[in-house]
Amino acid sequence: MNGRHRVNPSLPPAVEGEGAIGVLALQGAFVEHLAVLARLGVPTREVRLPEHLDGLAGLIIPGGESTVIGKLMVKYGLDDAIRSFAGRGGAIWGTCAGMILLAREVGRDQPLLGLLDIDVERNAYGSQLASFEEDIALTRFGITDLRAVFIRAPVVSRVGPSVTIEATDGRGNIVAVSDGRLLGTSFHPELTDDGRLHGWFASLARDRLVIAH
Ligand code: GLN
Repeated sequence: MNGRHRVNPSLPPAVEGEGAIGVLALQGAFVEHLAVLARLGVPTREVRLPEHLDGLAGLIIPGGESTVIGKLMVKYGLDDAIRSFAGRGGAIWGTCAGMILLAREVGRDQPLLGLLDIDVERNAYGSQLASFEEDIALTRFGITDLRAVFIRAPVVSRVGPSVTIEATDGRGNIVAVSDGRLLGTSFHPELTDDGRLHGWFASLARDRLVIAH
């Protein structure tokens, strides 16, 4: 090893240089996202501190409890760090609670990133339908039959002019949106063995692409 090879000792292992996909690992379903990415051969990193974002191509914010994840994000300074990661062109995909955290407004007082110009209704399916599965289409991504797992899921109640609706459920609720290098989905794609959306996000993030209108 030569003297110019500088390694930040606080970085978690399993980093293969530039282009890894980070998964915010504060609370919720982060292990499942890491497993899907690993199955696809994509290098990953658990993100718990701002410096863990260094050199990543993309970040997944998992499902879980958005109030808890938001408070922990603020506590560790990850809210500002994730905003500047997005400002540097990092791709971000929020699933379920992760999409809630990307939103501007959720109708109650909780820490949000406000990166996606959307409003979200939390727990929109109510208690009876709190969890269900349904096949949905994300046709612009070439996906027509994705098994979507909804767990106390949010729906998007408003989209700003820069935001594209990527999918609706069988009742017409908006359940996937994009804007440039940001993606939000109401459901949990990490809980099936279908890795297509993860593969799609990894190539978006690592090839520096944007999701065009
Ligand atoms: N209901 C949760 C929230 O509002 C989200 C549920 C999930 O991420 N599966 O934070």
